[in-house]
Amino acid sequence: MPRDKNKTESMSGARTAEHRCPVCGAHGFAPFFRVGSLPSLSCALWSTANAAKACPRGNIELSGCRTCGFIANAEFDPALTDYDAAYENALHFSAVFRDYADREARLLIDRYDLRGKHIVEIGCGDGQFLSTLCRLGGNTAVGYDPSFVADDHAPPLHKGVRIEPRYYTDADAGPPPDLILCRQVLEHIPDPIGFLRRIRDGLGDGAQTVLAFEVPNADYLIGRLSVWDLIYEHCTYFTGPALQTLFSRAGFDVRDVREGFGGLNLTIEATPTAGRGRTRPADLTAEAAQVAARIEAFGGQAAGRIADWTARLKDWQSAGRRIGLWGAGARSAMFMNMVEVPDAVGAVVDINPRKHGAHLPGTGHAIHPPAVFSDFKPEIVLLMNPNYRDEVGNALHDLGVDADLVTT
Ligand SMILES: [Zn+2]
Repeated sequence: MPRDKNKTESMSGARTAEHRCPVCGAHGFAPFFRVGSLPSLSCALWSTANAAKACPRGNIELSGCRTCGFIANAEFDPALTDYDAAYENALHFSAVFRDYADREARLLIDRYDLRGKHIVEIGCGDGQFLSTLCRLGGNTAVGYDPSFVADDHAPPLHKGVRIEPRYYTDADAGPPPDLILCRQVLEHIPDPIGFLRRIRDGLGDGAQTVLAFEVPNADYLIGRLSVWDLIYEHCTYFTGPALQTLFSRAGFDVRDVREGFGGLNLTIEATPTAGRGRTRPADLTAEAAQVAARIEAFGGQAAGRIADWTARLKDWQSAGRRIGLWGAGARSAMFMNMVEVPDAVGAVVDINPRKHGAHLPGTGHAIHPPAVFSDFKPEIVLLMNPNYRDEVGNALHDLGVDADLVTT
């Protein structure tokens, strides 16, 4: 298949195909940015460089709603995102991430008195967050995730946690739990409003269930031109106003919307609306207008950001500088596949032992343990996520590596 690499397009005004927004129903849901041929499984583990280079690819064409700020990839093809156990995105190996997860768990427990309660998590990953909630609050929980595999590398799950290694279905809606959790999952679901309405229907009338949903924060992505946060598996992207509109229209009262993890995540907490949808949603006009302006700006500037990074890598490469990349997660995979010269990066490391020996989707870089940097001696180390800056800086120091740590 020919590589349609780095084919980025600003689309503001370029196309007139406008549709109704699937979240708020307004007209003006129109394309504003396109980038072609990205790995469709950004966290897949490939056993050889050739298999990684030949990985399945798809295009991202973002459409955005200028009324509520909802964003979706119009070219998303679910057939290209077939998850299985070779998909790895556990984050608990980082102390910074564990601290964040612990704080989130304590906040939910205190705010909703989650002690001796029952929790359901849709898309629980390795179950570590549920385990924390059960350990700290004496709760019981069931988590659903088709990619779950019991793993010796992960801490053992709390005894109150049961995992079903499959997708959650409507048939799983039993007596309403006290909390329904869904973290970093909603953005993978092509029909989010249908999904939430089915959850609402499953809860019936009078349920006191709290929903706590976390998504990547699209305000951060578009506001900071954080192009590497575009990930093929994410068929949708939520700004604050879009998330609130979605929950209101699906029959929930929004209790809180907050940013977390340095602004990268957005969490919404909501409860079922009594009498099904008679509450007036909050007026989001001013917020949504700001989002609309950011969508326009992103459409005009995102391709330039990729070009700038390509130029920077080329400069370093021609100066003979050794460049390393810390972290082989989804953002790294997207960065390496968006820039024109991924081979400027000489070594890729990750602290997750499950990734060692595997290869980065698209570019085929081998993924090593961080200790490899002691020999490689990078002069520049790229880091995608600023939350890990101190942690990675300390790790480099411990490895005896004196490199410029550059956050993308
Ligand atoms: Zn909308």
